[in-house]
Amino acid sequence: MADLLARDGLHFSHARRLWRALHRELVNDFAEGKLPADFLPPLVRWLREHARGSDTHAGYSLDVPTLAAEIPSADGLTSKHLLRLADGQEVETVLMSYPGRYTACVSTQAGCAMGCVFCATGQMGFARHLRPGEIVAQVLHLQRVLRAARSPGLRNLVLMGMGEPLHNYDHVMTALEIITEQRGLNIGPGRISISTVGVVPGILRLAEERRPYNLAVSLHGASEEERSALVPASRRWPLADLIEACRHYAELTGRRIFFEWTLVAGVNDSPDTARRLAALLRGVDAHINLIPLNPTGGFGGSPTEESAVDAFQLALQEAGYPCTVRQRRGIDVAAGCGQLRADKAKRTLTPAAL
Ligand code: SAH
Ligand code: SF4
Repeated sequence: MADLLARDGLHFSHARRLWRALHRELVNDFAEGKLPADFLPPLVRWLREHARGSDTHAGYSLDVPTLAAEIPSADGLTSKHLLRLADGQEVETVLMSYPGRYTACVSTQAGCAMGCVFCATGQMGFARHLRPGEIVAQVLHLQRVLRAARSPGLRNLVLMGMGEPLHNYDHVMTALEIITEQRGLNIGPGRISISTVGVVPGILRLAEERRPYNLAVSLHGASEEERSALVPASRRWPLADLIEACRHYAELTGRRIFFEWTLVAGVNDSPDTARRLAALLRGVDAHINLIPLNPTGGFGGSPTEESAVDAFQLALQEAGYPCTVRQRRGIDVAAGCGQLRADKAKRTLTPAAL
């Protein structure tokens, strides 16, 4: 931004002021009268000439998605926001509250090309990558929601919404650089988790570039055959290669890896499977997150019963792996990945109807 303004002869201090306005004061409109009163005339003039709201013909535009639907969960702890982007694509952004902190779950693509059979986003297919601004805009949207409610701001960020972050590597990394910038949103890199279906080249790149974020790898199967049945992308990046990439990542970064495991009744939820998973991960500093399936329209599987979830967890713990069961937050608001957009397409929900 500083370079951009400098090209037009503006001093660095203007860029700094604009950056703070966008990411701290959450300004989302460049129209006359909407700008902070202390913007100096050169900056106001520059904005008038180059940047007008979302009118891209003016030069630079703000990514300000419109809210297509918003639904709170019955427990009041989760709210899901369906955001419409400039070209009409809709993506989901979820706000989750835990005691004393808020976490944002954002999307990185409209749809997803990976086709995991149980995932509502996978079932809808791939539309396009999100640009960095469209990823940052989701965080800014939730930050505005929190500010309007006089709540403290976001503390954590997970890239677990729609899409595969490492299939959109460059845009995601640019977005995270903006989100972690200390004079802006300032969400610490250690409070950010990237969840991947297992895009091996992306994992290796994260390690080589020493990216300071947490890594979560979605496994769901402990053998190639089991995994490919749920995660077709495993045919492209086989399980053996994926585990090797994880070992390499752990070695280079010294960081613990989180593994996600969606539990599907009778498919991948037996204690024997848990023990095979432990054997597969032997020697890796791993934490396993279990997610009971959120049923979706395009998949016939059902969620694992609570007692079987406990038995699976116990088997992993006995094998020495820390293991957490993730609550299915907001299941009543269709907060599973891609489910709100899928439901909306089916039932044409409107904000009023919600
Ligand atoms: N594409 C990335 C991040 C988005 S999905 C990935 O796959 O990791 C985030 C997590 O939600 C993944 O672990 C995914 O397997 C899981 N998930 C998707 N749909 C689900 C469903 N219907 N029930 C339970 N977990 C689901
Ligand atoms: Fe894509 Fe992740 Fe859904 Fe698989 S689980 S289809 S990778 S969003």
